[in-house]
Amino acid sequence: MAEPMEELRGKVAISCRILAMEGLVDEILGHVSARIAGGDEMWIRCRSPEEEGIRYTTVDAIRRVDFDGKGLHNGEPYRVPNELPIHGEIYKKRPDVGCVIHAHPKEALICGITELEFRPIFGAFNITAMRMALDGIPVFPRSYLVTRPELAAPMIEIMGKKPICLMTGHGITVTGKTVEEATVRALNFNTLAKATLQVAQTGRKAPDISREDIEKLPDLGSTFNDTWVWRYYVRKLKEEDLRLSH
Ligand SMILES: [Zn+2]
Repeated sequence: MAEPMEELRGKVAISCRILAMEGLVDEILGHVSARIAGGDEMWIRCRSPEEEGIRYTTVDAIRRVDFDGKGLHNGEPYRVPNELPIHGEIYKKRPDVGCVIHAHPKEALICGITELEFRPIFGAFNITAMRMALDGIPVFPRSYLVTRPELAAPMIEIMGKKPICLMTGHGITVTGKTVEEATVRALNFNTLAKATLQVAQTGRKAPDISREDIEKLPDLGSTFNDTWVWRYYVRKLKEEDLRLSH
């Protein structure tokens, strides 16, 4: 088994590839990072002149830098993403966060720019996604590129302690304690956004599920919600990669 540091780095690469496989990131836009325990550094998805897109992220593209994006060696081909402050500034302000994902998923984009509301319109179908709607999704109403710490600050302020932020006309930022948690959370939010958009496209209104039903839905725990779902996507990724290589 890889040493913990390399294992974490590998998970960041896998998360990038899963998110691309599932359509949350397209082409070359989007990035994942993970906090390196015990300091002010992170692993983050970088780009080189050989860039081929997030779907094909290699471990080599995951570089170790500090929260201000410094630490790449002179002459190395990689550059940190323009929107690195989304990651670095969240780690600085929120010690509970171990992974940050920034993606540009299409359904969430349309929900944001048409101001569709995320409501608990389903229950047992996906309890985690339903609870996200119930907890409320903070909306950052600006659509600029977050290239400086002061541009990240108002988004982080709006996020508060919440794990997701919808950035209108731009994308989403999702946090988690672990890479697995943040990745599965982003996927679940995508399910909620897709359902919300598809319901709106039918022209019919979906009522909220009843309070009584909400109260009956269990918390299935992190093994069920994160570990197993993560493993499913890791396997799906491996199988898809195998198919693509033939
Ligand atoms: Zn962005």
